[in-house]
Amino acid sequence: MLYESRWATDDVRAFRGTVREFIRAEIAPHQGRWSEQGHPDAEAFTKAGALGLLLPDVGSEHGGGGGTFAHEAVVLEELARAVVHFGASVQCIVAHYVVAYGTEDQKRRWLPRMARGELVGAIAMTEPGAGSDLQGIKTVARREGDHYVIDGSKTFINNGLVAGIVCVAVKTDPKLAGPRAMSLICVETRDLPGYRVGRPLDKVGRQGQDTCELFFDGVRAPASNLLGGAEGRGFHQIMEQLPYERLSVAIAATATAEEAVTLTTRYVKERTVSGRPLMDLQNTRMVLAKCRTEAQIGRIFVDHCIERLMRGELDPVTAAMAKYWLTERECRIVDDCVQLHGGYGYTTEYPIARMWVDSRVERIYAGANELMKEMIAWSL
Ligand SMILES: Cc1cc2nc3c(=O)[nH]c(=O)nc-3n(C[C@H](O)[C@H](O)[C@H](O)COP(=O)(O)OP(=O)(O)OC[C@H]3O[C@@H](n4cnc5c(N)ncnc54)[C@H](O)[C@@H]3O)c2cc1C
Repeated sequence: MLYESRWATDDVRAFRGTVREFIRAEIAPHQGRWSEQGHPDAEAFTKAGALGLLLPDVGSEHGGGGGTFAHEAVVLEELARAVVHFGASVQCIVAHYVVAYGTEDQKRRWLPRMARGELVGAIAMTEPGAGSDLQGIKTVARREGDHYVIDGSKTFINNGLVAGIVCVAVKTDPKLAGPRAMSLICVETRDLPGYRVGRPLDKVGRQGQDTCELFFDGVRAPASNLLGGAEGRGFHQIMEQLPYERLSVAIAATATAEEAVTLTTRYVKERTVSGRPLMDLQNTRMVLAKCRTEAQIGRIFVDHCIERLMRGELDPVTAAMAKYWLTERECRIVDDCVQLHGGYGYTTEYPIARMWVDSRVERIYAGANELMKEMIAWSL
């Protein structure tokens, strides 16, 4: 292609080779089995950690890869292109909360183990009664001496089954109205009395990734596990970190759209109908030309956002635009590509079918796209 991302330096290109090879050898072959068991093997994390793929944009002083967000973008892109999922993105998101708000002690305790994949992270905000309306959460953390006692439940939590550390959104002062009621507490889950994980939810896609309900029944977490050193900061911390998460979703969406076009172009050149390659039909060429153009526009926008995040300049509204627009385009492009595959596009044997089911959730999680549009509208 004529266009190449400016953030793709030689170092980042070399890193892409490592990531691609790791996914080909260690992640892709296990997707079927992980789908059956409903979660990835623990070794997926430790093996990825050993190669420095888990927290590539966390400083080496914390055990991370010491790279930039470009390195994390590469991991997100390569996983999306291979249509595989194993929770690496959530791991990075949780680590960034610790990097941004953790005390030195918290960083020392958690980040090196997270980088090595020995400690898997989850972020638990959503509850059965509160998804889009985050301020409506009911999970409460009551201070008792040196501990918080947590009661409540969470749902749709990625990495829920395998997580050894869960960053939980709680109300530390339920009497307070508004955002100041909320805090984030990192709960270390191993052998923790009162903590229970429901079985992985039966999703239509991404079955190899565990998405679970979590139950907290009088769970005691050390007060020193509060993120940010003071109560009432949780909502602002989440709002500050969401652009990172939303851009991560947008990056995966862009890579999926690009890969869908590549796969489909190859397919329609090989598949013949009435003795002619599908590519000879004008409709096929028009559909693919539209998809390719939209994927390219998406690429240029997402690269702009990546560069801004790398400079510390990505604002929440632009991140919302990227998450909303790129996931909408992704779903449209992938759907058009399924159509060009005919019946084969509806069979799981073809990656385009997996892209179709796996991409749908990106318009819902990390903030439903309707909320993204509300945010954009508020800024006008
Ligand atoms: C596979 C998967 C993984 C997930 N991983 C995590 C995770 O790791 N951690 C976590 O905390 N959560 C996670 N989630 C939860 C996800 O973030 C929520 O599902 C999402 O925020 C929507 O909340 P909800 O499902 O309660 O839908 P609701 O809040 O009930 O909203 C339903 C729909 O109503 C519409 N809507 C809602 N509010 C508005 C509004 N203000 N204006 C216009 N329309 C609106 C939207 O179309 C929305 O999709 C995950 C979800 C899925 C499916």
